[in-house]
Amino acid sequence: MMKKIIQQLTSSNCILLASHTNPDGDAIGSLLATGISLEKLGCQVVLYNESPIPAVYRFLPSVERIQKEVKDLLNFDSAVILDCGNMDRVGSIAKQVEATIPVVINIDHHTTNTQFGQYRLVDVDACATSEIVYRLIQAMGIEMDEAIATAIYTGILTDTGSFRFSNTNQAAFAICETMMTMGVNPSMVASHVYGAYSLGRIKLLNLALDSIEISNNGHLSIMTVTREMLAKTDTLAEDADGLINYARRIRDVKVAALIHELENGNGGSGKSRRFHVSLRSDGSVDVSRIAMNFGGGGHAGAAGFSMESSLTKIKQMIYDMSDSFGEQCHLS
Ligand code: AMP
Ligand code: MN
Ligand code: MN
Repeated sequence: MMKKIIQQLTSSNCILLASHTNPDGDAIGSLLATGISLEKLGCQVVLYNESPIPAVYRFLPSVERIQKEVKDLLNFDSAVILDCGNMDRVGSIAKQVEATIPVVINIDHHTTNTQFGQYRLVDVDACATSEIVYRLIQAMGIEMDEAIATAIYTGILTDTGSFRFSNTNQAAFAICETMMTMGVNPSMVASHVYGAYSLGRIKLLNLALDSIEISNNGHLSIMTVTREMLAKTDTLAEDADGLINYARRIRDVKVAALIHELENGNGGSGKSRRFHVSLRSDGSVDVSRIAMNFGGGGHAGAAGFSMESSLTKIKQMIYDMSDSFGEQCHLS
């Protein structure tokens, strides 16, 4: 498959690269690394992400190349879709991309990957999509530079939770070490990604911690971030990134859920609002299966889904689920 993908990419004049909405460090890192690399080969590339780039990632070299709109999809010979378990993760242009661009290449590491696209580089054992992209760049013989290395390093650093999550593998360390030899400065990257929060973000942390509830059996924690909390602290949805890890760190908690109210709901007026639910597990429960039941997906240890409902109903639904954490959700 790698050979065919390289053939397809090198014979394409114009390539669209896209990653998932509300991008994380891996979605942005893998997008930039692939884009810069293919451009070095002389390909014409367009880097696309539907959502704004979170402030903490705006230091990445060439990040300004990522655009929120693409004009004419007919111009592209190939589309490279990165860090997306399914095509819809790309956002509103997903259907058009599939209908218009002749070849879609799926590069991803989610266990729930739907195997979309004509060509696929899907490896669920990869710590990040950026790891797979590193392998692709190596296989294509493209020369690494500091910009590409910084993008790959950031993707791996953030998707492994700074080498703490269960997806942390040998490749994570090996590649990041190589990226350092290419000029990556870990403390510089960390100072942007983890050390440049607004005061509002810290205040949001306070509200989010205060919202944590625990199920009777102690196996489930629920954290809530509402639009009201964002407004009160003058923060954006991106500022809720990583908060769920606090809910997961509690002793005896097997699954942590963050119920995050989205802005495209109908605000506080109606009963039904739109929420994204992030799930994290301690390794004993496969949360990707739970997320898939609700139309989402992800990894065994980190997954998510979105739904329209009321906060009370979603909480009840998640609490009901926690009764079974000792039984059918267990990983073998
Ligand atoms: P999050 O819920 O945004 O914290 O994401 C946790 C993991 O699940 C990430 O790897 C996401 O890419 C994945 N994920 C989140 N939402 C979805 C969804 N609706 N469909 C598929 N994968 C998702
Ligand atoms: Mn991602
Ligand atoms: Mn990823």
